[in-house]
Order: sequence, then C-alpha cells, then structure tokens
Amino acid sequence: MHTILTTSIQRASNFIQKNEIVAFPTETVYGLGANAFNGDAVKKIFVAKGRPADNPLIVHIGEIGQLPSVVSKIPPFAEKLMIEFFPGPLTLVLSKSKKISTAATAGLNTVGVRIPKHQIAQKFLKECGVPVAAPSANISGKPSPTTWQAVNHDLNGKISCILKGNPSRVGVESTVVDCTGSAPIILRAGGVTLEQLRRIIPSTRIGKKNYQDAVKSPGVKYRHYSPLAYVFIVNGSEETVPMKSSAYIGMQRIGRKNFGLTKICRDQNEYARSLFHFFRECDRKGIQTIYCEQVSEDGIGLAVMDRIRNAAVQ
Ligand code: AMP
Ligand code: MG
Repeated sequence: MHTILTTSIQRASNFIQKNEIVAFPTETVYGLGANAFNGDAVKKIFVAKGRPADNPLIVHIGEIGQLPSVVSKIPPFAEKLMIEFFPGPLTLVLSKSKKISTAATAGLNTVGVRIPKHQIAQKFLKECGVPVAAPSANISGKPSPTTWQAVNHDLNGKISCILKGNPSRVGVESTVVDCTGSAPIILRAGGVTLEQLRRIIPSTRIGKKNYQDAVKSPGVKYRHYSPLAYVFIVNGSEETVPMKSSAYIGMQRIGRKNFGLTKICRDQNEYARSLFHFFRECDRKGIQTIYCEQVSEDGIGLAVMDRIRNAAVQ
C-alpha cells in the first residue's frame, strides 16, 4: 500500500469517509483513525498496528454536538468534567451508543470518548463528519509517536494516509477516566492530572491495577511504550553507567557527559513532551541502556512515571 503524506485536511478526511485508515496529529500523541461506525474500517487499525483485538480504542469527535452519536448516557459528574476539560487530553468512559462499532470498543458496552484540543485535529474530525476511533499511531508495544516522522517510520506502507502536523505538545496520551460508576476512576494517567480532576470532582480516585478496574481497561495489561533498549529508573547520576551505548533523560543536570545521548528537561511538562521522542532517538542511535530519572508523581509526573514503568518492564 502506498501511504500518502499530506497537509490537506480534505484529502485526509476523504480516506476516513471511504473507510480507510489515516494518522493525524493531536496535542497528546499522533492517532491512527477510522470511521467508528464501520467495523471493517476499525479492524484495519488492529491489523496495521498489530494491536490485540481485546484492547478498545478511544473514539474522537471534533465538537460536542457529535456526542449523542457516541454515548447513550452521561451522569452529572461526567458532564461537569466535560464542561471543564473538553476539548483536552481527557477521555471519558461512558455507556456506548448502538451506532459505535463493537470492534472499536473490543466488545465492551462502554466507549472512551475525547475531543482533542488541537486545531488541525478538530478541523479534520469535523470534516470527517463521523466519530473517529483512534489509538496511538505506532506499532503495538512501541513508544507512541509525537511527530509525523515517527508515524511514517512505524506505519509507512501499512496505512492510507498521514496528515502532517507539528510535534505533539503534551507528549503523553490522554487521561482515561471511567464514568460508569458513582464517581470518576482514573484507568490510565495522562495529560489531565489527578489534582485537576479532584478540583472539579473531589471523590476522583485512581483505579487499582490487577483488580476489577484493570479488567475494565484492558489496555493497561499490555506491555507498552518500549524502546529497543533496556530502561532503568534511577534516582541520581551515581546509579548510572555513562557509556557511548547508554543514555540519560531526567530533570537533574548530571556532571558526566559521556553518555551516547542526554536530555535534561526544565520541568515535568518537558519530560512528558520529550520522553517518547527520546526513546525513539535512542533506538535510531543503537543505544542499549536508557536511564530515566524518577520524578515525583504529582501533576503530569504521575503519567510520566506510569509510561517509564511500563517501558521498564522486561
Ligand atoms: P491508546 O489508544 O493506545 O492510547 O489506548 C487506549 C486506552 O484507553 C487503553 O488503555 C484502553 O484500555 C482504554 N480504553 C479505551 N476504551 C475504553 C473503554 N471502553 N473502557 C475502558 N478503557 C478503555
Ligand atoms: Mg497506544
């Protein structure tokens, strides 16, 4: 298959309407989209990515008016979260409408829905005219793509089109929040922080992995975000072995300079924005060991540490 690279929203949305799959930029990471009403279109995503069929996709819309075609019920606390955080890096899990394909929800009767806060993404989604099911646009298990070049590296020849945009501003995926119970439960940490959610709904809690909550969000059980190198979590430069074949990313400036690759981040936002890109750069350079500095798990640090821990699982 020939993959078309374009900046034309019209050209890209035409492929969605023809039930083909298209990668597009968002503020979190690049997504790989298909018409969420059409099971055959959605299945192409699972094939291109090599994604397990029991891992549901997030359904993206360009404006709130499209919501009734995606979800069937919205509890009052979920509405409050939407008012505050839509559009933005927040996915709400709600009861699904009949029109959304069960291929997109992996057979669940719930659906994760999000409106990206990204001009090109919004225009593209409005132009598509249908809800777009989209996971991250990477080969399953690899670090999520934050540039169109990373998408092209993983999926060239496997998808119809890449809508080119700037590098993603947030750099980690959306926060997934289960809204099917009596209070919000975070199934996956992401761009909207626990503190922000609690300011609106104080009873918001973090789901426990390996328990019922994990079963609710099948994606969390898979290995994710992994570069080719071994990833180690460290608390300071004394825990690292600087070599040409090793790399370091963190916020602490380190004295020794003989790593193959180093990234020092000003704050946790820059750490989030840089992490996946850094992993991919390490792969390109043949780095064998990546040291990631541990950061405090407040704000977006919770999502950063979640991704690093996942990448560090051997
Ligand atoms: P990705 O699209 O690769 O960012 O992964 C989507 C994440 O959202 C995975 O962790 C999924 O398990 C989760 N997710 C999507 N839809 C649902 C749903 N209906 N219920 C629970 N989790 C969901
Ligand atoms: Mg993903």
